[in-house]
Amino acid sequence: MSVTIVSEPHEEGMHPTLPQLVRAASIIGESCTVIIPGGNGADEASKIQGVEKVIKLNGDCFSVFDSSAWSAAISGLVDGTVLMATTPMGRELSASIAAGLGRSVVQDVTSIAPGIKVERPAYSGKAVESISVSGDAVITIRPNAIESAESGGSADVSTVDSGENLKIAILEAIAKAGERLDVSEADIIISGGRGLGDRSNFEKLESVADSLGAAVGASRAVVDEWGLPHSMQVGQTGKTVTPSLYIAVGISGAIQHLAGMRSSRYILAINKDPEAPIFGVADYGIVAQWEDALPILHEAIKSLP
Ligand code: FAD
Repeated sequence: MSVTIVSEPHEEGMHPTLPQLVRAASIIGESCTVIIPGGNGADEASKIQGVEKVIKLNGDCFSVFDSSAWSAAISGLVDGTVLMATTPMGRELSASIAAGLGRSVVQDVTSIAPGIKVERPAYSGKAVESISVSGDAVITIRPNAIESAESGGSADVSTVDSGENLKIAILEAIAKAGERLDVSEADIIISGGRGLGDRSNFEKLESVADSLGAAVGASRAVVDEWGLPHSMQVGQTGKTVTPSLYIAVGISGAIQHLAGMRSSRYILAINKDPEAPIFGVADYGIVAQWEDALPILHEAIKSLP
């Protein structure tokens, strides 16, 4: 069976989710073609083991994301099952490609097996839905849910020019509110909750984040009560994140918070209450006042080579 991966463009070459999608493709299919709108990172992509062909898709429409123009340009090139990452762009584009081709779409998959059998969280992560996918569907896979494929391949790289025109016009581009890394883009996140006691204590999390190259997140309680930007909120009504490491400081672990971060690869929780639900999902737990534990953790991080 053929699998086509549509890889999201990325400023710094290949998108970090691409090796994970290639691993998923190798589980369900025999041949794997990668399409890269705009073509950035094609050479890196060609070196992933399991990739047979890389298509650099060039065209004026790839200067800005327009799901209608992009799906029209991409749909004619896909063969077999289509895999994409569950990112804001992946969610929109997968639905648009599926609608255009008259296919099923299955989003936010966290495991995939031959057949094609997939699992994805339902009801804010309280249940896991198992789905047998028949026919050629369009599937999005949650970042970091699947191991990456190894490098060491040597796929053919070809270029296809698309004549699609942009169907949207940008009237105004509004710069990001802050300079800090966004939680949805970060590989490490340190989040704070009401247990921090006061908004000003987020500066301490920012300091640890700077040492780690991490983003700073927050529970809804502090976003609502202390007026932090909603873009920092992790959870059911905030962002769903899947970093390699999620550090929760003074967060109880309410089900709505867990819905947004429980699929993180490693979770470290600092909480003074040993019964806090966050310890139910944490890989590592520190039962302590954060005021005592965080400085020690920060010093240990700073002394890492
Ligand atoms: P608390 O529940 O008050 O927990 C504070 C924790 O800090 C406690 O566990 C306490 O033991 C610990 N603590 C206190 N002092 C210290 C100290 N000095 N050192 C160490 N630990 C300390 N919440 C989200 O986060 N995201 C969402 O998207 C979201 N969506 C929601 C949607 C709906 C429809 C509803 C009803 C709720 C939603 N919530 C969401 C809110 C959620 O139910 C919780 O109220 C919220 O997550 C609690 O935030 P918290 O853990 O920061 O605060």
